Amino acid sequence: MIVLVAGTGTGVGKTFVAAAVVRAWRARGFAVSVRKPVQSFSPADTGTDAELLASASGEDPHTVCPPHRWIPAAMAPPIAAGKLGLPPFTTEELVRELAAPAHGLTVVESVGGVRSPISIDGDTTDLADAIDPALVLLVADAGLGTINAVRLSLDALAPHRVVVFLNRFDPNDEVHVENAEWLRSHQGVVTLTSLDALVVTVSDLLRPPAPVVPEA
Ligand SMILES: [Mg+2]
Repeated sequence: MIVLVAGTGTGVGKTFVAAAVVRAWRARGFAVSVRKPVQSFSPADTGTDAELLASASGEDPHTVCPPHRWIPAAMAPPIAAGKLGLPPFTTEELVRELAAPAHGLTVVESVGGVRSPISIDGDTTDLADAIDPALVLLVADAGLGTINAVRLSLDALAPHRVVVFLNRFDPNDEVHVENAEWLRSHQGVVTLTSLDALVVTVSDLLRPPAPVVPEA
């Protein structure tokens, strides 16, 4: 089963949230793998996404993201690859390389925002269509502007099942609180604001429905 972690933009905290969820599920005894199909980063970065995710799942960073998909230039991956003279790659190639285990849960962290290019021919919506996740976890900022970013992302991700997580949510910030309420009441999307609630809610959503017991 796959959970795809997407973002309304770059820097909203996809890696932080993905790693936290992976740790929490492992602590609950679930078998969890994590994948990053491709990553681009500044050569000055200490600790890439693949390394941070690998430390959460206990896997090798080169299992999390294949070594030839580590692109040391801080631009969208297909653009970064072009700048460095690396061969172009398609979304289908990235999906083929995911090698998600057949059993257990696999958390896949996407790249940038929902419509940011991930390959020469696709973005996160194409990745979602190809891997058909049980759930998309959409990470967003909590503050001003997030309703617009979340709604645009939800439109792009339809018809996938999406749960919104407002990262860096401050319960004492009126804008954060009103944004969460608006998304729940007007958009009708499950909107979570704490990692504890996220782990519990997503675990419940992913649990197979109990068998229906016929009435005697
Ligand atoms: Mg990241």
